[in-house]
Amino acid sequence: GKADNPYAGAKVYVNPEWSAHAAAEPGGSRVSNQPTGIWLDRIALVNGTSTTMGLRDHLDAALTQKGSGELVVQLVIYNLPGRDCSALASNGELGPTEIDKYKTQYIDPIAAILADPKYAGLRIVTAVEIDSLPNLVTNVSGRPTATANCDVMKTNGNYVKGVGYALNKLGSIANVYNYVDAGHHGWLGWDDNFGASAEMFRQAATAEGSTLSNVHGFIVNTANYSALKEDHFKIEDSVNGTPVRQSKWVDWNRYTDELSYAQAMRTRLVSLGFDANIGMLIDTSRNGWGGAARPTGPGAPTSVDTYVNGGRYDRRIHLGNWCNQAGAGLGERPQAAPAAGIDAYVWMKPPGESDGASKEIPNNEGKGFDRMCDPTYTGNVRNGNSMSGSLPDAPLAGQWFSAQFQELMKNAYPAL
Ligand code: BGC
Repeated sequence: GKADNPYAGAKVYVNPEWSAHAAAEPGGSRVSNQPTGIWLDRIALVNGTSTTMGLRDHLDAALTQKGSGELVVQLVIYNLPGRDCSALASNGELGPTEIDKYKTQYIDPIAAILADPKYAGLRIVTAVEIDSLPNLVTNVSGRPTATANCDVMKTNGNYVKGVGYALNKLGSIANVYNYVDAGHHGWLGWDDNFGASAEMFRQAATAEGSTLSNVHGFIVNTANYSALKEDHFKIEDSVNGTPVRQSKWVDWNRYTDELSYAQAMRTRLVSLGFDANIGMLIDTSRNGWGGAARPTGPGAPTSVDTYVNGGRYDRRIHLGNWCNQAGAGLGERPQAAPAAGIDAYVWMKPPGESDGASKEIPNNEGKGFDRMCDPTYTGNVRNGNSMSGSLPDAPLAGQWFSAQFQELMKNAYPAL
C-alpha cells in the first residue's frame, strides 16, 4: 500500500539539470543539492531531447540517488489543453480542444513509464496541473476577472476531463502519489473562491472514471510567492476598531498566509469526502522574503494599513502579482512533515527558473508575453491595477534567470 506521507523517512530526488544551473552561480553551491520539481511541461520532455533529460533518464538517476533507502521523485504534470487560460506567459503547446492528444500522447506515455516495475521502489509524487482548476472558478464569466480563454476551458470541460484522466491513470499505479494544485491563499482565500474551488477539485477528481481515492493530497503556492506564516499580524486582529480583513493588503481575504490556508483547505476537502488522511504540500521555493527589508515586528498601530504593511513579510506591491517578484527570497528548505496536516515543504518551482519573459520573445513552445512580467506594466483587474513588481530582463518561462536566482539567495529566509 501507499505510505501515508511519502516524504516521511525519505530523501527527495535532486534534479541534476537544475543542480548544475544552481552550482554554476556564484554562491549557488549552498543550495544546489536541494530537491526541486521536474516539470514535464511538453510532450517532448517525456522522452527527452538531445539536450534535456527525459522521464526515464530522471528515474534511472533517481534509482542511483536512492541507494537502499526511500526516495521521492517530484513530477509536475503540466500540459493541459489551453493551458494557463488567465495569463500568457505559460501558455502551452496544446490548443483548447486537444484533449485526446493530452491523454494519448502525454498522460498515457508518462503512465506507461511510471508503471515499469524497474521503478516500483521509487515514491513518485505528482503535482497535477498547476493553476488550471482555480482558473475555472475565479476567471470565468460572472467575475470581473474573467478571460475569454478560461470561459472556453470551462465550457468545453477539458481541464476537468484532463485532470480526472490524469488522476485516474497515474493514481492507479501503486507507487504514485497524486497532489492536486490548490492555488494559494492570495487567490482562493476569499469566501467566494474557497468553497467553490474545493467543489471544483471534487468534480475533477471524480471525472473520467476517477474516484476521490486517486488523490493523496493537494499542493499550494506552487510557483507563487505567498508567505508561509505571517507572524506580525493575525486575521482576527483589529486596529482602532478596524479589522485586519479590511486592510488594503488583506482586502477581506480569510487568510494571511499559506500555512493557515493549507490547513483550512485540507479540512474543507475532507468534509467534502476526500480521504481523512490527505496531506498538503507547500511550495516554499520563493516565499522566504528575507533580507534587509524583512520586518522584525508589527507595523505601527496608527491605522490598520500601517499595522499590516509595516509588519508583513510578503513585500509584494499587490497579492495578485505573480511574475519574477523583486525582493523575493528562497523560503524554508524542503522538509518532511513540518506542521499538522502538511506532508512536506517542497521546492516544486525550481528557483532561478523564470515565470515569464519581460518582453515579447519568439518561441516554439506556445509561450506568450504577459505584461505581468514587465516591470513597467501598471496592472489590470487581477492585481488591483498595481505595478507588476517583476524583475527586468527576464527570459521565457522556465528558462534560467541568473539575476533572479542571485536575488532569491540574497533574500533567503532562513538565510543561507
Ligand atoms: C513554465 C514551465 C517551466 C516551469 C518551471 C513554468 O512557468 O511555463 O515551462 O517548466 O515554470 O520553471
